[in-house]
Amino acid sequence: SLSGKTAVITGSNSGIGLGIAHEMARAGASVIINSFSDREEDHAIAAEITANHGVEARYIKADMSKPDECRALIEQAGACDILINNAGIQHVAPIDEFPAEKWDAIIAINLSSAFHTTAAALPMMRKAGWGRVVNIASAHGLTASPFKSAYIAAKHGIVGLTKTTALETAREPITANAICPGYVLTPLVEAQIPDTMEKYNMGRDEVVEKVMLERQPSKEFATVEQMGGTAVFLCSDAAAQITGTTISVDGGWTAL
Ligand code: NAD
Repeated sequence: SLSGKTAVITGSNSGIGLGIAHEMARAGASVIINSFSDREEDHAIAAEITANHGVEARYIKADMSKPDECRALIEQAGACDILINNAGIQHVAPIDEFPAEKWDAIIAINLSSAFHTTAAALPMMRKAGWGRVVNIASAHGLTASPFKSAYIAAKHGIVGLTKTTALETAREPITANAICPGYVLTPLVEAQIPDTMEKYNMGRDEVVEKVMLERQPSKEFATVEQMGGTAVFLCSDAAAQITGTTISVDGGWTAL
């Protein structure tokens, strides 16, 4: 059980981050929900987690594109035994047309934020005598596709940061690993299905199998619950010697 541990999950008001927050809470951890939006719904998520799982849950606003807010998130959390670096955005364009400000934003949110939160969290983990860093990379942290230069550079970067974090903590009861999801059915992905059906004049099943899951041999989406379960496993005693590596949850994508 993760009771007594506090998990800080960046970008956790939707999708994979929210799924991980639920699984962490189910395993008994206190959770910190984060996004940059600070809406009533965001605070309601924390209240719902407390109601459902009987753990402490709190929402903290912090913009992961800003180094000082990344560090402030960890400080305001007060404890950070488990750090899940999940916040991320995407932009799709060829390199010669890729807006420079999009490149900067993606590198800041998908990569640099994890450096800043990790830097702030490691002293707390050392003081507590235990810690887990789980970075949400991607199949695109291990392979590439055209038109996603910034995302792929950031995701490969976070795999590198994960390895360095693991080496710097190797003699301590702290581990650092990356989860590399393939295509996960989040509300964001679900919302793309109707448009894609229209664009290709295909039914839902055909769009999912032939367009969206083209590179995912299982032809099934991974789920946010599976991401949460994998993160909980990485926090278990069984995973104490798993450090500096990646776990693909991608239906065989990276085996191709
Ligand atoms: P999502 O859009 O549902 O979630 C992204 C989260 O990041 C949201 O909670 C959002 O509030 C937060 N966020 C964005 N910008 C932020 C900022 N500046 N400050 C703080 N929070 C911010 O998408 P998702 O699919 O759940 O993605 C979560 C992570 O998983 C991302 O790192 C993404 O790259 C990765 N991932 C997703 C998939 C997939 O198929 N969905 C596949 C591989 C990797």
